[in-house]
Amino acid sequence: MTLRKLLETAEPNVSKADLKMIERAYQFAEKAHDGQKRATGVDYIEHSLCTAQTLAELKLSAPILIAALLHDVPEDTATSLEDIRKEFGADIAKMVEGITKLSHVKYRGIDRYVENLRKMFVAMAQDIRVILIKFADRLNNLQTLYALPANKQKRIASETLEIYTPIANRLGIGELQARLEDAAFKYAYPDEFIATEQIIKQIFPHKKKTLDSMIRKLKKKLDNANVKYYDIYGRTKHYYSFYRKFLKYNKDVNQIYDLVAMRIIVDSIADCYAVLGIVHNSWKPIRGRIKDYIAQPKPNGYQSLHTAVFGEDQEIVEIQIRTREMHEQGEYGIASHWNYKETPSKPKEVKWVAELARWLKTVKDNANFLEGAKIDVFQNRIFVFTPQGDVIDLPDGATPIDFGYHIHSDIGNKASRAMVNNELVSLDRTLKNGDVVQIITDKNRKGPNPEWLRFVKTRTARQHIENFKNKSWKNILPKFSK
Ligand code: MN
Repeated sequence: MTLRKLLETAEPNVSKADLKMIERAYQFAEKAHDGQKRATGVDYIEHSLCTAQTLAELKLSAPILIAALLHDVPEDTATSLEDIRKEFGADIAKMVEGITKLSHVKYRGIDRYVENLRKMFVAMAQDIRVILIKFADRLNNLQTLYALPANKQKRIASETLEIYTPIANRLGIGELQARLEDAAFKYAYPDEFIATEQIIKQIFPHKKKTLDSMIRKLKKKLDNANVKYYDIYGRTKHYYSFYRKFLKYNKDVNQIYDLVAMRIIVDSIADCYAVLGIVHNSWKPIRGRIKDYIAQPKPNGYQSLHTAVFGEDQEIVEIQIRTREMHEQGEYGIASHWNYKETPSKPKEVKWVAELARWLKTVKDNANFLEGAKIDVFQNRIFVFTPQGDVIDLPDGATPIDFGYHIHSDIGNKASRAMVNNELVSLDRTLKNGDVVQIITDKNRKGPNPEWLRFVKTRTARQHIENFKNKSWKNILPKFSK
């Protein structure tokens, strides 16, 4: 890795003055790390460069790249945070400080896990950019893991899959999530990794051939119909996500249609639907596999049209259609808020991150923390709608009561009946993606039914119901004691 390569990657996305500043940060870091080596034997600065390079590939802006180059300086050298502040300003120094704080994790076992999570959330709540740099830092550490002893390899790889990649997923940074997962997969589950590699190598060539031929035909059809496309290409599923699907479908490879998928990038939403029509006209779609994530985006913001068709040679092929903006959002997620484009809204705070961070400050014991964090971050999410069309993001298995408490504690406390898609349903009904949910309240109701604790899935709902239960006991007790 060289400074020249980093500057070339960053160049289209940053100003001339920024390029100079990146170069200065490189020289500053190189001087500070002078004489230090990585476990692999290379100069330490190589690691700083690789970290910045990953972020440059995500088209991120200069301050992030500069902080990435400097990220290990205060931790590992005689140069201090104060020196960085003097040289590069408060914003960059603050980011570097955030990363430094993340690297001190004292404990072992479950306490280490919890401490790690806690620190990640605190850092994210202060500045999401810190977590982007941490992800890039971790990616390079995984790529050079071969130089470390086996027990360290295993710990760093598992920690990545348990903590880092679920957060990357929730932030919608698909590209970085995939790279982290595959780099960690090899060390966390070596046997499974080898098996997955063998399966993919076995079935990939034929699928690829089919796909290439279908792409050629589709290009002709789109040209004939005068539908403009920006790019059409085949993308291969990454190893870890293939492996997870493999387990989900009871190790039946034939159930996994999207090992390779055709991806079509167009200019407008209207063109997305036009392309979908031509695709379905050319190959027979598979029932139940058409998903409109444009009309109903995933909770992390992902948008696309998905379909699967019976293509050539009896091969089932998945097809994804999206605009360029959707493509960027899908690959870079929240990171696209800090890229070269001058987007007006650079979110200071991400709602669910801020909520989690606030809550974790109040939690005393680790077992409790873990339970809540697992529910809120690491479960699969579904999205449902209010009758006004607002999207509500809930954990898989959530019920109308969870929905009610998510809207407002009063709606949860006074819920009496629920309508899902205009039909009356029981309050313990499991909600599904895309459901329109309405809660009918009874204002004379005293409070929640403790029985609800048997089926609610969210921490918020559980807390409100338990609080009420405890309070009502306290109200009753003095009467008996008199
Ligand atoms: Mn580092």
